[in-house]
Amino acid sequence: MTPVLYIVIPCYNEQEVLPITAPQFLAKIHQLTAAGKISESSRILFVNDGSRDRTWEIIRELAASDEHYIGISQSRNRGHQNAVLAGLMEAKDHCDITISIDCDGQDDINAMDAMVEEYLSGSEVVYGVRESRETDTFFKRTTAQGFYKFLSMMGAEVVYNHADYRLISSRVLQEFAKFGEVNLFLRGLVPLVGFKSSSVYYKRAERLAGESHYPLRKMIALAVDGITSLSVKPLHLITGFGVFVAILSFIGVLWALIAALCGNTVAGWASTTCIVCFVSGVQLICLGILGEYIGKIYLEVKHRPRYIISERTWEEEK
Ligand code: UDP
Ligand code: MG
Repeated sequence: MTPVLYIVIPCYNEQEVLPITAPQFLAKIHQLTAAGKISESSRILFVNDGSRDRTWEIIRELAASDEHYIGISQSRNRGHQNAVLAGLMEAKDHCDITISIDCDGQDDINAMDAMVEEYLSGSEVVYGVRESRETDTFFKRTTAQGFYKFLSMMGAEVVYNHADYRLISSRVLQEFAKFGEVNLFLRGLVPLVGFKSSSVYYKRAERLAGESHYPLRKMIALAVDGITSLSVKPLHLITGFGVFVAILSFIGVLWALIAALCGNTVAGWASTTCIVCFVSGVQLICLGILGEYIGKIYLEVKHRPRYIISERTWEEEK
């Protein structure tokens, strides 16, 4: 039996690029079907992430034009990670494998052949890894690389240079569905689910049209999300730092005692101020980081639905 493949594509304000890339995905489906690698009932699942432009209309038109195109629309913009999750969770009961990919043509569609190959030879998760970042600007390249380095330094396990272009089998997705967390960092969570995995390398191209929705601000937010939802290393660092400061202050107290015993103490306003500032600074940093975690706990205990679908291009079975 050939596997049913669902290509999951998050789309946010992509009216410029969608008409260009959609036929490319369809051609890929046809090619893989013809090669006997995937089933005839494979689909391209667009997830409209609350776009404010014509994206959803375009998806509906595509769905009407060919049965391979289907789409869901999130009730509002929830961000890339959430849109991918919505698509994967929708797809998991209808298919054997999913491949999530951006809709802007940056990720090489042809790497899908190798991904499906890897699946057929036993991998349940196949990571698409960027071989080079020649096409990215210097700024994007260095910030992105810093992002991966910083994440792993902070104890969040991620596959280096892998974004969200990956194949996941429905079996893994069924398990993944049990992860009830609201703070989503798919790249870090998928490795946590486990199962046999492998990587496929590809060259990242330039966006075919439209603009990137991932400015530095969002990348930093994603990194903070990734670290605080996957790792407690920052808390360990604080503990280590606390011990270090404690040792320093112990030495300081000894020094002050000896100085006082020797009788040459001078009331030093400057040093007192420095100490007060330093300690309050450290405390504030620690409180801030603790606050990050408390914020996460706060969100997790609410058990909010992670996505809400407002529309589908097909009739739902009752
Ligand atoms: N995207 C989304 N919701 C958002 C932002 C982006 O679904 O709030 C989608 C977007 O349509 C694209 C993918 O996520 O398919 C990656 O975004 P983009 O290409 O802007 O990021 P970059 O490749 O520049 O990191
Ligand atoms: Mg892109």
